[in-house]
Amino acid sequence: MIDTDALTGTVTQGTGGVWRVLTPDGLMHEVSLRGRLKKADVGRRAGGTIRRDTEAAAQETVKLAVGDRVRLERDERGQTLAIAEIRPRTSRLARRAPGGARGERVIAANVDQVVVVFAAARPDPHPRMIDRFLVIAEANGLSARIVVNKVDLVGLDEARARFAAYPRAGYPMHFTSAKRGDGLEELRDALGGRTSVLTGPSGTGKSSLLNALFPGLDLRVGEISASVNKGRHTTVGALLHPLPASVGGFVVDTPGLREVGMWELPAERLDQCFPEIRARRTQCRFADCRHGVEPDCEVRAAVERGDVSVERYESYLKLSEELAEEKGEW
Ligand code: GDP
Ligand code: ZN
Repeated sequence: MIDTDALTGTVTQGTGGVWRVLTPDGLMHEVSLRGRLKKADVGRRAGGTIRRDTEAAAQETVKLAVGDRVRLERDERGQTLAIAEIRPRTSRLARRAPGGARGERVIAANVDQVVVVFAAARPDPHPRMIDRFLVIAEANGLSARIVVNKVDLVGLDEARARFAAYPRAGYPMHFTSAKRGDGLEELRDALGGRTSVLTGPSGTGKSSLLNALFPGLDLRVGEISASVNKGRHTTVGALLHPLPASVGGFVVDTPGLREVGMWELPAERLDQCFPEIRARRTQCRFADCRHGVEPDCEVRAAVERGDVSVERYESYLKLSEELAEEKGEW
């Protein structure tokens, strides 16, 4: 007999009110939300809104997401398992920045890091696009690392040169070749035991990398970015792929991050989403300095001294403009 009181697991997938929950014994359970809790969901779309009992006073509703740690309980007849409780989250990746407007949509819970995959070439990396992915991670308070794949095409020195701005900004870097095997051990170590959102433009080698790192893992990363998500606004739910037990951890496969056009961030918060600007912004003369034409701007001074990369600074200015134009929506 299973001690149901101790049965906790991780939500890996959810569609049509059925959630897949992986328990530490390696079993995958298909469960629904417990009836009593599900009542809070009446009148809402399927997908599971739970009013947390413990915070009833705050009337906080939590929408279940992949990555959530949940407690499972048997129903009254002791037959089927159902989700009885969501454990507090350590982090989350949401469609709107924390502190922003209401109605944020949590794509994944308990995320440890965002892993942004670009190619050294084919397709050529676009700095502005890299920075968008990084800003999304930063806006969610998540640490990010950058994988530069396909180093076999240009060589390591050239690949390093193309991405020189990022280690300077403080991001951990991986230079890999899924094809040749470069850098795979270090990347496997970086993914092990953690929940990572793997993202980046299609064609950069995400599926190839994961297949090379974890043979046999059935991944749909490339598939999603190539077809399923194209031209669709309905979110295809995120998936959590358990990594092999010897490694531990999960890779979150989500089409959501690709829809950068739908992310919302108050323009005045953008400078906090560039670590090298965040570190200097309080030294500007004006507290609300936007680091453009303002006098005594420490950020601009750092760019002039060569302490902050010109590309990253220009990226900041460009994204700042876009945010202002679109009132916070990309
Ligand atoms: P995804 O869309 O990010 O999942 O990218 P894929 O894994 O589907 O790879 C896109 C293309 O790049 C495929 O043709 C791969 O064979 C190729 N590719 C992936 N990794 C490498 C690499 O390290 N070097 C080279 N030269 N090609 C790669
Ligand atoms: Zn400034």
